[in-house]
Amino acid sequence: MKSINRPAILGGAPIFAYPLQFNEPTLPDYADISSDIASIVESGQLTNGPRVAALEERAAELCGRPVVAVSSCTSGLILAYRLLNLSGSVILPSFTFFATSHALFWNNLRPRFVDIAADTWTIDPQAVEEAITPEVSAIVAVDVFGNPAAKDALAAIAARHGLTLITDAAHSLGARYGGRPVGSFGDAEVFSLSPTKLVAAGEGGLAAVRDPEIAGQMRTARDYGNPGDYDCRTIGLNARMTEINAAMALAGLEELPRNVQKRNDLAGHYKKCLERVDGLEWQAITDGASTTYKDIAVKIDSAAFGVSRDSIRRALAAEGVPTRTYFDPPAHLQQAYAGRVEQCGDLARTNELCSTILCLPVFSHMDSEQVEGVCCALERIQEHAASVDKAFRGEV
Ligand SMILES: *Cc1c(COP(=O)(O)O)cnc(C)c1O
Repeated sequence: MKSINRPAILGGAPIFAYPLQFNEPTLPDYADISSDIASIVESGQLTNGPRVAALEERAAELCGRPVVAVSSCTSGLILAYRLLNLSGSVILPSFTFFATSHALFWNNLRPRFVDIAADTWTIDPQAVEEAITPEVSAIVAVDVFGNPAAKDALAAIAARHGLTLITDAAHSLGARYGGRPVGSFGDAEVFSLSPTKLVAAGEGGLAAVRDPEIAGQMRTARDYGNPGDYDCRTIGLNARMTEINAAMALAGLEELPRNVQKRNDLAGHYKKCLERVDGLEWQAITDGASTTYKDIAVKIDSAAFGVSRDSIRRALAAEGVPTRTYFDPPAHLQQAYAGRVEQCGDLARTNELCSTILCLPVFSHMDSEQVEGVCCALERIQEHAASVDKAFRGEV
């Protein structure tokens, strides 16, 4: 009996004979977009065309403000930081994907990293307040794994200190906060449409910008800074989205509400199936908000689980269950940033979360049996915790 249920790492049969994917893009049926793609190719207009305009219009309806389609979230952030006139230091969380902070360096801005809240894993408003200096011009929040940051508290701090407020909303297209969609807060919120996000356009980004004038400047800046008369007013980028990417994004937006719901259901299923497993702590969803579950992550308490986070990862891999450890190492510890960043306090919660986080497989078309397989794998690893732990210590 015991040997049947042995973890694969101890010689049992893996739960997944064919390894599960960590993440698969959920794409529209090709039949649904093929005539659109064909007409793009036949028209010869591959960029700056009607589908990009239609995507911007559709996204603007959803966000209630102008939206500019760009080539990626990273280029959208670079342009937003530039056009909103940031200067000096910018406060942001270190528990994020490094694109948030890379885009600051591309504008010669200095990241000023602060800690996250222990439960929601998003930027801690109290830490933001304490980090403000005369050099600080802006706050950049991140909707971690789709969970909206504490937008009201951040807006109040930004208003009180005259700071610009921007969100890296790469994960949160489709999330809501205080009864409003993400995309309607702060000075700009920038979404990603890259393959691991909920709307996978191939590559792409959407910048939802409060001020229509700034949105207009961004449309020019994404096109080298050329307003159309071959006389550049600013030094822009090529950050355009192609028509084919826009067609994919339009189809993906249609499916977004369903896919957000599916991921919420999958997260619910994960939590229910893992109730019996000790040592797991889930991300708390911000009060009054809903999340997209771009990632489903747990914090591992190694002592309570009986096995370290990294050993759990290896044992899961043997079961055919790939995992990730976003965002380890955190942004402030990226080698490229050595000596070039400011940090407020010891970022203890960020450092602790990075060493204990485990992101489990999830994609919008994942089925409940796959979730159950992952849970079963975690359960059997815990059941054999002592032996698994010993195996990794080389004692078996
Ligand atoms: C994916 C991601 C980005 C970058 O998005 P791209 O569209 O690939 O440029 C930025 N920030 C976060 C938090 C992300 O996860």
